[in-house]
Amino acid sequence: MARESLASKKARTTEAVKRIDQRYPGKAILLNHENPYQLLIAVLLSAQTTDKQVNNVTPTLFAHYPSPIDLAQAPLEDIEQIIKSLGFYKTKARHAKECAQQLVAEHGAEVPQTMEELTALAGVGRKTANIVLNMAFGIVEGIAVDTHVFRIATKLKLTNKKTPAQAEYDLLKVIPEQYWTSVNYQWVQFGREVCDAKNPHCDICPLVEICPSAFKKPKAKRRASK
Ligand code: SF4
Repeated sequence: MARESLASKKARTTEAVKRIDQRYPGKAILLNHENPYQLLIAVLLSAQTTDKQVNNVTPTLFAHYPSPIDLAQAPLEDIEQIIKSLGFYKTKARHAKECAQQLVAEHGAEVPQTMEELTALAGVGRKTANIVLNMAFGIVEGIAVDTHVFRIATKLKLTNKKTPAQAEYDLLKVIPEQYWTSVNYQWVQFGREVCDAKNPHCDICPLVEICPSAFKKPKAKRRASK
């Protein structure tokens, strides 16, 4: 297949984004939260886990530890006990506690508002930072690329990178900026309902004639980075 020009790829991407936007309008985040601290911890806990599972544990977690100061001082075993229904709960508990300790020690117990400061926190990668910046502070720096966004972008041949974090830079070149904040929410819904990892429903997909991977057998699954 001939190499696609950037202009052609941009046009195809814009069409794909528009079609998904029509199907899943809005940019809501499904993780329950009441402030930036709760959002940061909820997103940190959500890696490799459904939002519903996270929403099941965060009310208890935030009732016990309503501020970064409380979480920073919490016994690690107690955090683990509260979130043990989540995958990778031991690592997530450690990251949450270390993250809270950094908030207290370095940011006056507040959530910082820059990509550099956020990604310096334990357990926080660009995906988490993008969501927090956008949803908590209205700052748009990039696209939150999780496993769903990464898989769909790979299928659409918008990136050939090996990780979601690397793929984000390819997506920033071809997705119009006005959609950067909505892509995560919308493509996650699309990935769950249509472009499933193991069983993509190409027969009902609104992107079928602009997707180079339509009706091709899925490749082995890749894992998301933090
Ligand atoms: S055509 Fe198939 S592989 Fe391509 S985006 Fe749609 S469901 Fe996914």
